[in-house]
Amino acid sequence: MIIPVEDRFSEEQFQEVESILSEFGCSLSPIQGATRTIYAIRGDEREELMINRLEGLPYVSRVDTIQSPYKLMDIKSELYNHEMLVGGKVLSRDLLVIAGQCTIDPKNPRMFLETAHAVKEAGADVIRGGIWKPRTSPHTYQGSSQAVDILLKAAEETGLPVNTEVMDEEQLQIAVDAGVPMLQVGARNALNYSLLKKIGAITRGKGTKILLKRSMHMGPISEFICAAEYIVAAGNPNVMLCPRGTVPGLDGYRNHPDESITPLLKQKTWAPVVVDPSHSVGRSIYVPHSALAAVAYGADGLVIESHVDPRRGIGDDPKQAITPDVLGNVIADARELFQRVRKYQESYVHQEHPLPSS
Ligand code: PEP
Ligand code: MN
Repeated sequence: MIIPVEDRFSEEQFQEVESILSEFGCSLSPIQGATRTIYAIRGDEREELMINRLEGLPYVSRVDTIQSPYKLMDIKSELYNHEMLVGGKVLSRDLLVIAGQCTIDPKNPRMFLETAHAVKEAGADVIRGGIWKPRTSPHTYQGSSQAVDILLKAAEETGLPVNTEVMDEEQLQIAVDAGVPMLQVGARNALNYSLLKKIGAITRGKGTKILLKRSMHMGPISEFICAAEYIVAAGNPNVMLCPRGTVPGLDGYRNHPDESITPLLKQKTWAPVVVDPSHSVGRSIYVPHSALAAVAYGADGLVIESHVDPRRGIGDDPKQAITPDVLGNVIADARELFQRVRKYQESYVHQEHPLPSS
């Protein structure tokens, strides 16, 4: 829909707009109101260049598009029926819990294995463990490929799938070659479109799940969904969206908690929403509240940092990891709440596609 600056386009303006639209296979239809005329675009209006050219015209006030720029991630896409199975659970039907240390300490592999067993005992479905870490300062621990074997050992001992973050193509290739079943794109790389494309292409057809964090700098929700669209368009539809807090942080919290965008995401896209309360609030005492809030907002899953002995952890663990006993309580409450809040989604998410019966 094109909204003119004046009440209506002049004949010349109409012709200029029409000629731009025709280059992209679209046409223009005036909709006359009592005092103003607005103009409908007929045809596929998703072409960004066409919109940019229209918005560059001094007599155009605004262009509102109805079609989404993310045709594969859109809730109306064929992928609506795409089922993702993780750790024996069908996503969106059961709550998925990913838990474990922020960072694997290669000097203390035993501790990571203890954490892995303890989070499994607490009810987690997937073990998380950071091998390579995006650290603000280059002088702090950056991670190490030595930790790959420790992560794989945790998978072998617990029988659970594992998750780790990759930040570049080399790490991506190492993780894929090692058979890591779930890869994380961190908040700092969620806007790295060339990495997103590589992840989609390299994991194509492999069944690898991708947990895409929301960048702390992302604005409109469509920007987050479009980032996932890159991965799906490059060949891997197994994407989960992970709100993890944005900047500027809410005074006292590490970031600005954003679990509240969950219903908005679920209304626009079929992809499961797996919220990270740990990086959002950034302190272990607040994590249970943030985790349950996310489930109340309709999250399909949670990714929670947990450690058997947070004080001896590295990376974020000393400040934001919860112990496995706290995790056990959060998971039990979250699973109960998950069942109770599902009915509220029916009115807006499942109008055309009913909820699968559990
Ligand atoms: C993490 O999961 O440890 C991490 C670094 O996450 P984020 O990218 O959300 O900061
Ligand atoms: Mn962390």
